[in-house]
Amino acid sequence: MKLSIPRGIIYHKLFDDSQALVSVFFKKLDRDTIVEQWEKVFAQYINQNYSVAFPYARTAIYYALKSQKLPAGSEIIMPPISIKGILDVVLALNLQPVFVDIDLNTLCFDMKEIDAAITPKTKAILITYLFGIVPNMEDMIEICKKNNLFTIEDFSQCLNGKYKNKKVGSFGNVGVYSASSIKTLDTYGGGLLVCNDSKLHELLKSMQSSLSIPSRMHLINKIIVDLIRNLATSRLIFHFIVFPLLKVFSILNPDGVMKITGKRAQNMIKVLPERWFEKYTSFQAELGLKTLSIVQSEDAMRIKNVEYLKSTLTSLSFPKNGPDTQNVYWQFVAFFNNPKDSQKRMHKMGVDTSTTSLELISSLDAYPYKGDTPNANYLYIHGMFIPSFPGMSKKDLKRVSSSVNIITKQRS
Ligand SMILES: *Cc1c(COP(=O)(O)O)cnc(C)c1O
Repeated sequence: MKLSIPRGIIYHKLFDDSQALVSVFFKKLDRDTIVEQWEKVFAQYINQNYSVAFPYARTAIYYALKSQKLPAGSEIIMPPISIKGILDVVLALNLQPVFVDIDLNTLCFDMKEIDAAITPKTKAILITYLFGIVPNMEDMIEICKKNNLFTIEDFSQCLNGKYKNKKVGSFGNVGVYSASSIKTLDTYGGGLLVCNDSKLHELLKSMQSSLSIPSRMHLINKIIVDLIRNLATSRLIFHFIVFPLLKVFSILNPDGVMKITGKRAQNMIKVLPERWFEKYTSFQAELGLKTLSIVQSEDAMRIKNVEYLKSTLTSLSFPKNGPDTQNVYWQFVAFFNNPKDSQKRMHKMGVDTSTTSLELISSLDAYPYKGDTPNANYLYIHGMFIPSFPGMSKKDLKRVSSSVNIITKQRS
């Protein structure tokens, strides 16, 4: 029997999520020594001296920027596509977001556009590696250094990505990784900041200690979300229940099923929610310590799948490999002329696909800050994921490849 292929997976075993859902009721959440042990291990993993664990990546970015005491109105160069929470923390610090368009080959900033965007008020930059693609980091860092920019790397989608054998997250002043649901290392949320500067580390540790006591209920919610997503994408349940429902929904409400994890709230928030400022728990740290060692073998499987797909998808365009980069392809994104129609036709062939659930933060209706970012707009609308997750069989890959080829070759 040919089981349908889901758009993506959760990087936990179902058993682990079930076990977590039981043990979360009994375990202490505030064992600082375990969090510190995890911070050490994660810092080493990225080849940095220090790490500080926050509850979310957005919180880590908030404190990284706050540590710089930038004057109000300072400009920060931002990716046009990311999670909205990052824009919210930048605004909460009274900084001015400046959106710089991406290069469609690297999905990271177009270097020429950075140069053009820099003014005497530009103080910081948030490099974001979308979908596990690494740009030319020498050129990128040179621009940052030349302009004296405080450089934050958001490598949430690119854990283990490298440029000339150096891991992303270790190029700027700080690197930030989000260990949230659907990421390759997922500790039921978390924002792990890495840096090399001992003074900055000390300051960030003191900011971390000011965070409030974590809520067990919030943690339980996150485990339940992962468990449900994990169940929904397990092959039998996906094939017999989720996929038939998806197909019905996609007729009733095509936009509703177009985003990988659904649509997200787009309202502007006035006060940052309290749950963004709760401590990262020792429960999460323990999970990180337990699962870090399997990330690379899963990366290897996914990268191999993407390389196979790239070699067989001859009529499709996707981001290009640079000579010195090691991409990890968190999600394999390719450009489709007509995504809605392609999604429908791939569904008919038993292959699920979608566009990103990240927001086009350079043009949110509710926000007065806009950017002219045509490439990012193109990625947002035309970039669809081709299933390539670890655990796919050769047969699955062949089916994905032939269904994409049928779609892209037929249209002239
Ligand atoms: C998933 C993701 C995040 C998540 O951030 P949280 O604040 O931890 O929810 C941030 N940035 C990028 C690029 C992401 O993909």
